[in-house]
Amino acid sequence: MHLPTKIVQAGRDPAKHDGVVAPPITRGSTVLLPDAATLIKGAVKDYGLEGHAVQEALAAVLAEIEGGTGAVLLPSGLSACTLPFLALLQHGDHVLVTDSVYRPTRRLCQGLLKRMGVTTTFYRPGIGAEIEALLQPSTKLIWIESPGSLTFEVEDVPALTAVARAHNVLTAIDNTWSAGVYFKPFQHGVDLSIQAMTKYQSGGSDAFGGAVIGTDAKLLALIAGQAKELGLVCPPDDAWLILRGLRSMPLRLATQDAAARQIAQWLAGRPEITAVLHPAIPSYGGHALWARDFTGAGGLFSVELAGGSTARAHAFINALKLFGIGYSWGGYESLVIPGDPQIAQRALAQPERAGPLIRLQIGLESPEDLIADLAQALQVWGTTPD
Ligand SMILES: *Cc1c(COP(=O)(O)O)cnc(C)c1O
Repeated sequence: MHLPTKIVQAGRDPAKHDGVVAPPITRGSTVLLPDAATLIKGAVKDYGLEGHAVQEALAAVLAEIEGGTGAVLLPSGLSACTLPFLALLQHGDHVLVTDSVYRPTRRLCQGLLKRMGVTTTFYRPGIGAEIEALLQPSTKLIWIESPGSLTFEVEDVPALTAVARAHNVLTAIDNTWSAGVYFKPFQHGVDLSIQAMTKYQSGGSDAFGGAVIGTDAKLLALIAGQAKELGLVCPPDDAWLILRGLRSMPLRLATQDAAARQIAQWLAGRPEITAVLHPAIPSYGGHALWARDFTGAGGLFSVELAGGSTARAHAFINALKLFGIGYSWGGYESLVIPGDPQIAQRALAQPERAGPLIRLQIGLESPEDLIADLAQALQVWGTTPD
């Protein structure tokens, strides 16, 4: 079966729910058990924190998408990023994390992990097999994000996982950009895949959720056990919204991918833009690796303005009418943020840039309207003094 069919079919059990296709939202903390012995044995589901039908269905679809055997659901994408670190590391351990990591994951490394006595080395995005030189005897985990946040460097994931496996180091990837549809981490030797379901899976900019997906039962049990220790649950209302969005995600993703490529190509031809950081654009550095390992792109990329001050970049952003100024992405509406404040927090020296970096999320508006909006905002930028 092809992926859209699997996404429609997976996790369905209408016989359990009066024949309806969508599982109901079960709001329940207490679960009543038939007798004391069953309660003490603890073998069955005995508390609502473990989730009910809607979370089970959602986990089943997510595992199916990436070819995993299971998924642990969490209340946000960030908590899904946090869980593997907490579950797999202890005092004295070392982790390797890409320097273009999602900013809150960097904060986790510099905050809680540091206080726990776990040290982090941020590695150069695109490092490939050279990561071997950064391994320490205490290295337990390599954290990958591909393409990287804001700058979209594509990682040579098979090269990273080959090194990791040779040294008994686990790997996890924040795979949110591809939604698990366009990149298959387990086919490239990755141990755990992380999704912020808040993004494409929901598609509605109205719910929070995260997932850790895997193929190894022991590893998944460790993640689930850590989530239980922390009392984390993906609430049923959010899970229901996300599952509802997920069934039609391939359509949205394909539409946003095509629109983003059209817009990125248009931007690449504009004199006000000196670089388009989009892996599917042939002129972009990571293109060959992307073409080798990915089957699509999605709607998120960055552009570099041809010089100009921060104030001028802000004039461009503020002039946009169809792009909302705000965080997150993967929803139905287009968004824009300045990229440089986050990039400034990176550990390694950044390449010289001609001008400020702007991140765009392309929503489901017609690309012609978005291009017209970008054109008028670029005109504003062109006539704003430095
Ligand atoms: C948004 C995002 C997350 C976190 O998702 P939330 O649900 O907002 O916590 C994690 N990783 C990446 C790459 C993201 O873009």
